[in-house]
Amino acid sequence: MTDRQGRPARRGGQAGAGELLELVRSGRAVTRGALQQATGASRATVGQRLERLFRAGWLREGAGGPVDSPLGGRPSITLEFDDRHAVVLAADLDTRHARAAVLGLTGEILAEHAGTLVVEDGPEAVLGELGRWFDRLLEKTGRPPADVCGIGLAVPGPVDTGTGRVVQPPMMPGWDGYDLTGRLSRAFTEHTGAGAVPVLVDNDANLMAYGEQRAGHPDCTAFVLVKVSTGIGAGVVVDGAIYRGIDGGAGDIGHIRIGADALCRCGSYGCLAAVASGGAVARRLAESGVPAASGADVRDLLAAGHPEAMALAREAGRQVGDVLATVVTLLNPGVLMIAGDLAGTPFLTGVRELLYQRALPRSTAHLDVVTSRLGERAALIGAGALVVEHVYAPQRVEERLLSLGV
Ligand SMILES: [Zn+2]
Repeated sequence: MTDRQGRPARRGGQAGAGELLELVRSGRAVTRGALQQATGASRATVGQRLERLFRAGWLREGAGGPVDSPLGGRPSITLEFDDRHAVVLAADLDTRHARAAVLGLTGEILAEHAGTLVVEDGPEAVLGELGRWFDRLLEKTGRPPADVCGIGLAVPGPVDTGTGRVVQPPMMPGWDGYDLTGRLSRAFTEHTGAGAVPVLVDNDANLMAYGEQRAGHPDCTAFVLVKVSTGIGAGVVVDGAIYRGIDGGAGDIGHIRIGADALCRCGSYGCLAAVASGGAVARRLAESGVPAASGADVRDLLAAGHPEAMALAREAGRQVGDVLATVVTLLNPGVLMIAGDLAGTPFLTGVRELLYQRALPRSTAHLDVVTSRLGERAALIGAGALVVEHVYAPQRVEERLLSLGV
């Protein structure tokens, strides 16, 4: 039996500290009585295990005061995840720009830096520089490096999350197969002097989707985000988890062939990204004498209401909408979010025109087509959340508690 999020329901078994922490963090059981009821464990067992979580500084009594107990009797004190005991580092790499942050365990941004970082300079230099950024950001927050429980990294290419390496990334020349997690872990240790922490790497559209779904659409069990910036990619979150496919290639819709003859960065002709990405729109603008070289330049022109940029964005939206009709037919999502540099009214209008015309009415009857809520921070927040879910997953909690000596 599984619950709505696809996690195994735990009834009647003996729940460990990890399971109790998970129940409290997810809000499914936040009193001692509710934890007893959810796990079937005795009052004494629940009490013992909670005591360890209190000693570790991972749980605290809630500020809200006592609530009615599901078991009857005296009102009980609510429990909550104590997010003060650690922080997460996260970074979001784009082709010529990066953003990094120190985040609290519940996603709050404590310090942030954005600046130029050129992916074409190669992984050694770029990840080394990120280590320096992290060190400075930690200093800004006043938190010691030992408080960092993990690092999350978003990259603009397909990632094999099992090995932490990018796989044939068209926009990241020289990064194919490189050990990203190892290098970033080393950069963090070198610059901060702290011990190694878990490093998780994922595709930027996946992490944006993860961050946005959790922040704004937590009840949506089939969520799709399409990022249209210099390239085009999609992230899919099903039952609260990122759907990556077996090789991390799921959602790479920018390289679906749509039959045009434009040359794509991946080496093929006729990819969606070659005609409808921010990069492609920038190229067409440049050909007609408007200075534009990247998705970010197109974003600025759109913000200024440039008529030619708006017309091209709408046309790009129609081309992406045509592909999304297939995506929506296959996945039947509840929310389709359009994000990235091109995500504005002209592009969205184009998407809607083709999507509703081409997709089956049954696939779109309950579909919301929306724009981003977290904006440029979506991937950072998603990366932070992924690290927290990894570090505090029930199967890792016991080991961490033992290493803390509680
Ligand atoms: Zn391509």
